[in-house]
Amino acid sequence: MKKFKKYYLSEKEMPTQWYNIMADMPNKPKPPLHPGTKQPLGPEDLAPLFPMELIKQEVATEKWIDIPEEVLDIYKIWRPSPLIRAYNLEKLLDAPVKIYYKYEGVSPAGSHKPNTAVPQAYYNYKEGVKRITTETGAGQWGSALSFATQFFDIDLQVFMVKVSYNQKPYRKSMINTWGANVVPSPSNLTEVGRAILEKDPDNPGSLGIAISEAVEMAVKDPDTKYSLGSVLNHVLMHQTVIGLEALKQFELADDYPDIVIGCFGGGSNFAGISFPFLKENFEKGKKTRAIAVEPYSCPKLTRGEFRYDFGDSVGMTPLIPMYTLGHTFMPPKIHAGGLRYHGAGAIVSQLLKDGLIEAAAVHQLECFDAGVKFARAEGIIPAPESTHAIAQVFREARKAKEEGVEKTILFNLSGHGLVDMASYDQYFAGNLHDYSVSDDEIKKNLEALDSLGV
Ligand SMILES: *Cc1c(COP(=O)(O)O)cnc(C)c1O
Repeated sequence: MKKFKKYYLSEKEMPTQWYNIMADMPNKPKPPLHPGTKQPLGPEDLAPLFPMELIKQEVATEKWIDIPEEVLDIYKIWRPSPLIRAYNLEKLLDAPVKIYYKYEGVSPAGSHKPNTAVPQAYYNYKEGVKRITTETGAGQWGSALSFATQFFDIDLQVFMVKVSYNQKPYRKSMINTWGANVVPSPSNLTEVGRAILEKDPDNPGSLGIAISEAVEMAVKDPDTKYSLGSVLNHVLMHQTVIGLEALKQFELADDYPDIVIGCFGGGSNFAGISFPFLKENFEKGKKTRAIAVEPYSCPKLTRGEFRYDFGDSVGMTPLIPMYTLGHTFMPPKIHAGGLRYHGAGAIVSQLLKDGLIEAAAVHQLECFDAGVKFARAEGIIPAPESTHAIAQVFREARKAKEEGVEKTILFNLSGHGLVDMASYDQYFAGNLHDYSVSDDEIKKNLEALDSLGV
């Protein structure tokens, strides 16, 4: 018989403020720069893209920011999310570790992404925005934002990378069910898209192209804004509800983590689970280690360089001070689509540079192996992205056993994999491979940044 233990909070115990780590950081991140002038960005530079309240949050330095009542009401559809003690996984690993996971797959979209989609939709609504545009790769962000915008009667236009649009039909169906419009990108809705299609009607699309289309549409219409699901400071801050709940749940469990682990795409779910524990490190001198786990095939944190780079692959966004592989880096097509991003957020990058967090890289096959073992032990089928966190838990458990030291580990199960079963099929059929990136390729993409002169 398997054994289960969950730690639940009541709605009344939900956090009512987000934690802004900027207030506690010993070194604040350097400012983002305008892509043209290379001067620090002012609020007016971002005004065509984002509502003012989110621009304020992006640069805010106060430690706590109130969560609006309307946002809390919608959070209550699935929050507080459970903290679960993974007894069966502990038994399987046979190491001196206690393992807990915070399960964000209970949200309607099946991942942590609605934690920021809802406040972003809300602040746009408050400022009278009628339409939002966004891009999505595999569809996780597009589906989360379509779930959120329909509460506020905002039209949403999603540009979905064409290959994924054709290969991953169910997230498209979710977007349609929640009433948003989704087109394969490149599309004929924008000048950027039309120009690409004219030259190459079969262009498979990329996240960079989709961002360009979404930004173009937002800039051209004063009633339309743009929204991003990771990387930016305000997005990371919205996700701190995850770790703030976990702090309270650890009190119920009468325990405390030595290690906190999150998978890493642009940094939002990692920040969400770990920043509130870093707060305890800052405030009370606790020594919890926070580990961001990226794919071996897209190693920006472990092998990238800390420098200014664009957030997109075309060079339209502001320049952000971050760990990057270069915006021209094309990550291999691993199945954790949400982790195929060349860079990281400014805050997470600064924390890594200052030695306040750690980074690790894991291979795709190691991840699926850990994910399947987790599903058989604990019942929940993890998203391919989340299996990166699980693989690192396996590594830490092995290390604890070798060293004979007891450890309490917390990881974020950022989403379930029920819309990603085609990836599991590929894994079982033996069609998945590990990819490595050569030093030369990394060097080449980074050297191309020298010409930016920043
Ligand atoms: C999008 C996504 C990620 C990666 O994004 P972050 O911003 O780094 O959190 C991880 N897990 C799931 C389930 C996702 O949908």
